[in-house]
Amino acid sequence: MKIEIIKCLQDNYSYLIIDETNLNACVVDPSEAKPIINFVESNNINLKYILNTHHHFDHIGGNLELKKRYNSNVVGFKGDKDRIPGIDTLVDDLKIWKENNFEAKIYHIPGHTSGHIAFHFFKENKIFTGDTLFSLGCGRIFEGTYVQMFNSLKKIKALPKNTEIYCGHEYTLQNSHFCEAHDSNNLQLKNKIAKIKDKLGNGLPTVPTILEDEIQCNIFLKAIDLKTFSKLRDLKDNF
Ligand code: ZN
Ligand code: FE
Repeated sequence: MKIEIIKCLQDNYSYLIIDETNLNACVVDPSEAKPIINFVESNNINLKYILNTHHHFDHIGGNLELKKRYNSNVVGFKGDKDRIPGIDTLVDDLKIWKENNFEAKIYHIPGHTSGHIAFHFFKENKIFTGDTLFSLGCGRIFEGTYVQMFNSLKKIKALPKNTEIYCGHEYTLQNSHFCEAHDSNNLQLKNKIAKIKDKLGNGLPTVPTILEDEIQCNIFLKAIDLKTFSKLRDLKDNF
């Protein structure tokens, strides 16, 4: 499986997961249709599936146009069946979604929204975390509670350390400033920030990030308890 990172809107990332044996593909969180269509058509991709991590407009904006054009099947959390446009396949926590050569385990990770999920392509060691876990940050808590978000991050933290994390936005540099302010002696963080600046300076995305790096550098994953986590989340909202 090959992952193609597609920049959308201001700072969103959509992802194409491409099976190179037959050019079948899934798109994760198509913010808008146009950049996806451009890639799909210039590379002869068969866009079979649309996978949504949550219902926010910047993650589902391209659903209906892509579905209409390619007859793609829209996959989303069963609890969000009334707010994911064009939803066809309802998935549930800890269940496996498997079609063609694509196989992912679903994790229900509420907090940012109540119906947020992650798609874990466990054979490829890749997880698509939407707006729950970012590189060096985590999503704002809109519909859920601190405890839900804390537990959702814990589930991701328990995956193999070499898991590649594909998140919904390029927020890494902004996030790094907050981590730095609260963890100024962290050498690994300093090294990671240098690499981040390098990538951005060359016009490259900072994703994917590796879970091991996040565990060492992401202040929200480093929070030892709910109280610490909640305090950090509040501080970040006003940072
Ligand atoms: Zn969102
Ligand atoms: Fe978003």
